[in-house]
Amino acid sequence: MKNIAGKVVVITGASSGFGECTARHLASLGAKVVLGARRQERLADICSSIRDAGGQAAYRQTDVTRREDVQGLVDLALSEFGRLDVMINNAGLMAIAPLDADKVEEWDAMIDINIKGVLYGISAALPVFRKQNSGHFINLSSVGGIKVSAPGGVVYSGTKFAVHAISEGLRVEAGPNIRTTTLSPGAVDSELKYGSSDPAAAAAMVEFYKTAIPTQTIADTIAFAISQADNVDINDIVLRPTSQEF
Ligand code: NDP
Repeated sequence: MKNIAGKVVVITGASSGFGECTARHLASLGAKVVLGARRQERLADICSSIRDAGGQAAYRQTDVTRREDVQGLVDLALSEFGRLDVMINNAGLMAIAPLDADKVEEWDAMIDINIKGVLYGISAALPVFRKQNSGHFINLSSVGGIKVSAPGGVVYSGTKFAVHAISEGLRVEAGPNIRTTTLSPGAVDSELKYGSSDPAAAAAMVEFYKTAIPTQTIADTIAFAISQADNVDINDIVLRPTSQEF
């Protein structure tokens, strides 16, 4: 694939699911990947297996709800590899539950991770992209960011609608030479389905995810967006299992 080898790619939420799979895939295509998440041991293992396979990778323990952590992750990309080409704002939490369950702590966590985490990623990367006059944001929304998934997914959908709005505004403000891709998947196999503490909603999610498609589909889609010519901006991608209506 063109236009990927040598690029420096920061990925939040890289300790599992989309982030891990994308890091491995992009590294196999010659990108230099910088991984952030809270579970440091997993990041260390993923990085060493990428290096064992001949790839280049670095990691930093990162909680995206802490602005200084996200800044530190971007700073690591610059100190380790000298530039930043792609910022993948991927870290996320899906804590499904009806509003009546009153899971206010999980609402707060989703807002902090899914919205503020993306904004901190923009805050850290945009000045670098401005200086370079190039860069690419890839922000993870969801089909729940296009259609409200109620009952249960109201706050999650709210955060993913916000990602859509922020990404579209970012695209307009960023102007030429900075690309913005919003990715909105349906059910894709990962640890995301285990995010709710509400027993009925958690069981429903496990059922819903029985037809989930593999994480490699996300890694392939992200590679497709990155591999376009520099003046081509793939703005919005929606992908679902063929069996999924929502
Ligand atoms: P996973 O649960 O497998 O991965 C989520 C990642 O986010 C983990 O690496 C986790 O790492 C990280 N994370 C969670 N909280 C934080 C935090 N505070 N700081 C830093 N990292 C954090 O799920 P997916 O790979 O499926 O999810 C990736 C993204 O894709 C999410 O934004 C999700 O909403 C979105 N998405 C997923 C869909 C799916 O069906 N799987 C569908 C639509 C969208 P750690 O716990 O180590 O910090």
